[in-house]
Amino acid sequence: MIDAQLHALLRLQKLDLTLLQLKKEAKHIPERKEQLDQRSAHAKGRLEAAKAALRAREAQIKELENAIEAVQARINRYKNQQMEVKTNESYKALEHEIAQCGEEISALEDQELELMETLDGLKADVRKAEGEVENAQTAIDGECKLLDERLDVVREQFGELKARREDMAAEVDAELLKKYFGHLSSKQDAYVVPVRQQTCGGCHMKLTPQILHDVNAMTRLTHCNYCSRLLYDPALLDG
Ligand SMILES: [Zn+2]
Repeated sequence: MIDAQLHALLRLQKLDLTLLQLKKEAKHIPERKEQLDQRSAHAKGRLEAAKAALRAREAQIKELENAIEAVQARINRYKNQQMEVKTNESYKALEHEIAQCGEEISALEDQELELMETLDGLKADVRKAEGEVENAQTAIDGECKLLDERLDVVREQFGELKARREDMAAEVDAELLKKYFGHLSSKQDAYVVPVRQQTCGGCHMKLTPQILHDVNAMTRLTHCNYCSRLLYDPALLDG
């Protein structure tokens, strides 16, 4: 009688622990997908930053070009004035202005060249970031597909096991079943545990000789006096 009850409860427990495991797995899958989405978002963020840096550099270059054009316009103006001036002195003064403008342009062009030399590096950064986004997406698509497939399997297994559960629970004494449920719902682990090397398989405390004797005799249900789990001797309850 005792061993029939223990057998029935162990079978039920095995199934319930599997169900718990499946439940945990099913819960973990959306979390994992969330992590993958974050990875993709980070890669996209890096790409946006690289594109922004490139755009900013291009804008700086454009600004210098505009400045050069403005100075060039000044030179043209001075040259037109030169054709209209009457005195040699005025002509020379304009000549001086034109020369200064030339120096200004040359300085601006140096700056422009320096900035243009950094463009290739910034473009390479953008291409690299684009590659990372693409890689992240490929990895995500692949892994999400696997996770979805796994979730289908988990749900299917869960459904099948759950359907068998009621019949198995009916084989266990109502009072025992109540205690078992109480433990399972609060602790989420095994209630029926084997005695190994004179210790409780649940809390791993050393058991008293009296308890060890009772477990061995199998005349009544014996509980661990530390954790209250139900004890059984795996040698006597093989299978
Ligand atoms: Zn214990």
